[in-house]
Amino acid sequence: MKWHDWMGALLEIFFPSEFICPLCWRKGQSRDNKGFCDSCVNKVMSLSREIDTCPRCGYFKADQACPNCYNWENTSLEVVSVVPYYGMFKELIYNLKYNGKKDITYPLGYLMAQRIEELEIKEKIEAVIPVPLHFSRENARGFNQSLLLAKEVATELGKPLLKDALKRNNFSYSQTKLRKKGRFENIAGAFEGVNKQEVVGKTVLIVDDIITTGATLLACAKALEQMGAIKVYGVTWAAGYNIKIINKIAGNWLYSEERRG
Ligand SMILES: [Zn+2]
Ligand SMILES: [Zn+2]
Repeated sequence: MKWHDWMGALLEIFFPSEFICPLCWRKGQSRDNKGFCDSCVNKVMSLSREIDTCPRCGYFKADQACPNCYNWENTSLEVVSVVPYYGMFKELIYNLKYNGKKDITYPLGYLMAQRIEELEIKEKIEAVIPVPLHFSRENARGFNQSLLLAKEVATELGKPLLKDALKRNNFSYSQTKLRKKGRFENIAGAFEGVNKQEVVGKTVLIVDDIITTGATLLACAKALEQMGAIKVYGVTWAAGYNIKIINKIAGNWLYSEERRG
């Protein structure tokens, strides 16, 4: 340690820098020990409790039929999410993936694990598995955000992390520019089981940052089922939503401009 690092550490002890919550950006809130302020942790958890979500894919559907998973056949996959992929919730993922703000995986993973506990799925889960990123993208980015989230979720739930259970084949391309049907075709068969004996006969949890069409998680679930997994759950930070959700939560502190002050 250089002397100015020591000075920095000493200064932090005598004059701790003020905590700014990375979700609501308010200063001086009491810091929840999981990285967001107490108020944000409570509000985020009540959001997913209060809004009607699809029991199969986690879409925030607001009492409407789910447009997302009606064509998921022959799979045991059930996905739960914490928040709609909107506003500040979306921004956190953007900052993680494109600005390398890896610290954020700590509060996100914690809340994802809380959601799993709340729905009483925790006891059934025997292993946690990240969605593998294509190796060229992982090299370009330097990390796989799903793996970072899966580590936090596994730690919080006290379950083993199987980080190499699945691998991604070379032929899958970026999903973002494809329409819904194309996404399912592009990604079907993109994942391959590596360590079959790790998952055979087990109930497993796959982890990703977001679920949009569900094509990626579905392809992972099918690969895991082929390896002999008996049930596949999924957990993501954010999911798609019906616009009614946004009308319902508009006016909430998370979307107000004053938080930026
Ligand atoms: Zn906050
Ligand atoms: Zn659904």
